Amino acid sequence: MLFKSKKIFNKFINIIALLHFPGESEKAFRHYYYKKTKKQFIIASILGISLYTCVDFIDPYIVPDTMHKIRFIRHFLVVPVVIFSILMSYLIKKEKANQILGSLNFIAAACGVALMMAIDKTSISIVYFSGLILSVVYGYSCWSLRFNYAVFCGWTSLIFYAVTAFYIRNTPLPILINNISFCAIANFIGMFIAYILETTLRKEYRHSIEMKKTQKNLHDLSLNDDVVKIPNRRFFNLRLLTEFNDLREKKQPLSLIIADVDYFKNYNDSSGHVAGDECLRKVAEQLQHLASYVDSFVARFGGEEFAIILPNTSLPEARITAEKIRKIFKNQKICHPASPICDIVTLSFGVATIFPSINTSPENLIKAADSALYAAKENGRDRVEICPNTA
Ligand code: GH3
Ligand code: MG
Ligand code: MG
Repeated sequence: MLFKSKKIFNKFINIIALLHFPGESEKAFRHYYYKKTKKQFIIASILGISLYTCVDFIDPYIVPDTMHKIRFIRHFLVVPVVIFSILMSYLIKKEKANQILGSLNFIAAACGVALMMAIDKTSISIVYFSGLILSVVYGYSCWSLRFNYAVFCGWTSLIFYAVTAFYIRNTPLPILINNISFCAIANFIGMFIAYILETTLRKEYRHSIEMKKTQKNLHDLSLNDDVVKIPNRRFFNLRLLTEFNDLREKKQPLSLIIADVDYFKNYNDSSGHVAGDECLRKVAEQLQHLASYVDSFVARFGGEEFAIILPNTSLPEARITAEKIRKIFKNQKICHPASPICDIVTLSFGVATIFPSINTSPENLIKAADSALYAAKENGRDRVEICPNTA
């Protein structure tokens, strides 16, 4: 018995938990909820006013004597509340405000009907009770209220009806019990609808967040190098093209440094491929750190080659930057067990600059930096060479 009730309790908690995300996610969901439902709120308000005032035509048949009082409640109490809420929802563009305004509409519409029934003492006015049921169901399903707001409004309306029917109208007890029961059933139906609506939106929101995360992961995977954890060649190409187009409009120079690890094949041969990977990671980390002092973008160009894009940088400035990086990098003293020129890892640099125009392309810049790198290798490695032709 105890086990069974614990199980039911846990299930109840699970159901309620579906209506609340942990921490900041709940705030983000509410913003999403507002964006998803703000249009529906306006449509529900306009439709609500139209349907509510439509009932005018039955008044002469049901309540000919108190018709003016009933219409007063409809036109001068309920409708202004709804119009006010439409205006306020335009002024205060917030989820909480919409929930409060929707609740106001719900309570005004349902309590308005209860008041109409209380004012007219003839037995036939009891037919307006169907209006109360409709207002409750409409409130739960159309005002875009979240579950807890809707539940509050639904049961408040029922209490308001019960109080007015008992104290003001002196409704006979059997009718009162019948009406309260049906209104309670309408509330349960409404709660079910509101719960389904909110959980569906919550699932939709969670799904959209997961999709965004997956897309971001895929994007990161396709643009970052798996081994050295910095942007890959694809990312480099995109960035170079963006900078090229941007600087063509600004008529500013674009520089490129290509750095290549000297005698890296020897490193792999002597220390193994895994140690080689580790060494490349250190080189990438250092280059990214050293280049961060200037406006730059570092990527793995391929194999043991790295590229540094320097927007808005002239050839002499790019050369100075490359020289600084070479020297500081060398000071890190990463051991190279098999280099013919040094016992630490060294880099060779090729530097080129271009003034982007319609007659040039990013490929021209890459070719120029590559040829400067070739010269650096030819001239003995561990040095910076420039390609003067592109400047
Ligand atoms: P140089 O000074 O002329 O640049 O000589 P090098 O040995 O560095 O150049 P080479 O082009 O002869 O060899 C490059 C080596 O880099 C060969 C290749 O196995 C290694 N390499 C390329 N990519 C990776 C990688 O991701 N991990 C490891 N461990 N090695 C790599
Ligand atoms: Mg190479
Ligand atoms: Mg090399």
